[in-house]
Amino acid sequence: MSIGIVGTGISGLHLALRLRQSGVDATLYSAQDPDEIRSGPPLNFVTRFASTRERERALGLTEWESDAFDNAWVHMSVEAPGGPSFRARLPRPASSVDFRMYLAALLEEYRRRGGSWVRERVADRDGLLRLGERHELLVVAAGRGALTDVFPRDPARSPYTSAPRHLAGGLFDGVRPTEEPGMAMHVVPGAGEIHAPAYHSFTGRVTALLVEAVPGGPFTAVTDRDHREDPGRFVEELLELITAYAPSLRARIDAREFAPARPVDLMRGAVVPGVRRGWARLADDRYALAVGDAWITNDPLTAQGANLGSALAFQLADALREHSGPYDEAFCRTVSERMWATARPVVDWTNLFVGPPPPQLDTLLTAAAADQRVADAYVARLDRPDAMWQCVRSPESTAEFIEEARSVRSDV
Ligand SMILES: Cc1cc2nc3c(=O)[nH]c(=O)nc-3n(C[C@H](O)[C@H](O)[C@H](O)COP(=O)(O)OP(=O)(O)OC[C@H]3O[C@@H](n4cnc5c(N)ncnc54)[C@H](O)[C@@H]3O)c2cc1C
Repeated sequence: MSIGIVGTGISGLHLALRLRQSGVDATLYSAQDPDEIRSGPPLNFVTRFASTRERERALGLTEWESDAFDNAWVHMSVEAPGGPSFRARLPRPASSVDFRMYLAALLEEYRRRGGSWVRERVADRDGLLRLGERHELLVVAAGRGALTDVFPRDPARSPYTSAPRHLAGGLFDGVRPTEEPGMAMHVVPGAGEIHAPAYHSFTGRVTALLVEAVPGGPFTAVTDRDHREDPGRFVEELLELITAYAPSLRARIDAREFAPARPVDLMRGAVVPGVRRGWARLADDRYALAVGDAWITNDPLTAQGANLGSALAFQLADALREHSGPYDEAFCRTVSERMWATARPVVDWTNLFVGPPPPQLDTLLTAAAADQRVADAYVARLDRPDAMWQCVRSPESTAEFIEEARSVRSDV
């Protein structure tokens, strides 16, 4: 008997690799083999912060360690007359690698290490139940798909019932990198945001462009159109949108070169943020635990979902290593609540930022533009969600954060 893990996203793979390292018997169930993961359109544009990269080093994954994959800088601009803008260096660089490449390579590495792997799409609760007979515990890391229904939504932790942003984007050539390579974020009040991180994909260095549209706002002209009907028109309209709303991004684009890196590299979607109950009883003595997006979904605005999935996978691996069973309701409840303490600041921070802009956000960005110490301290918190939440949770805490950041001597 062993642990069954359903799903080969970052949550399932980091968990499986960690358990393998710890000598805990596990089997990974995957709907796709590595080549299938590599093909198809992008599902996301993930930036992994340093804490996630540190976990990769702990797992002995070295493929993306080189500084050629580093995104060390964050550039932020509010695209409005006189809007604040600043840039700051992350204390330790992030990395943005196409997840289709990243996850396929991780699955191959897991198999190379002798990890048990079954190619099987688990259709529904009954499928899980059948799998549950083979394992002492099932971990569902299957993302935002059909299996989430096994875990009831927790309304107290889920303030949104519809997507606060509509998403569209792709991987593009023809965008000149920022002077200091990294992630650029353009905030357009009332309309949404445009992320533009430097990105490493199949064709080499490209720029990921992700439009986050406030429903009903002007960006939905691009996000609510199915790009597959007329990809050329989609690209034209995206460029028009950038020209009209994000001049500092437009200044980096050469219109003659501006095109998807490959025709397949476009995507659209939307995320309804939400938290589900972290476990479900499948049969008398069989339980399933949810981790990653299968448990908690966040809008990508704060670039946290995959980083959180990795952190939770490590936390869960530790709990499974330390506990020899039974994996009953008490175990599931305790582990899930422990993981919630890690996840909660991400959920609260992200939900706050996708809602109507809180007054402290403008105060914070204005202070960051005026004082590099504030910008540095703010950007450093992108990889520390607990500290970020303490900084943004209320106007008072933001004022305290700014005062504290300004008290740091710039020569130390
Ligand atoms: C546009 C966009 C940009 C993003 N940017 C960032 C970012 O910059 N930083 C960040 O941290 N996060 C980001 N995210 C969020 C991030 O992509 C997700 O939080 C993360 O990838 C979730 O990982 P996961 O392993 O939990 O689930 P998934 O990645 O969804 O993986 C689920 C796996 O389960 C498999 N599966 C599904 N159903 C079944 C089944 N029935 N049976 C068997 N297998 C199944 C799937 O094939 C897949 O392998 C972004 C998301 C989007 C949409």
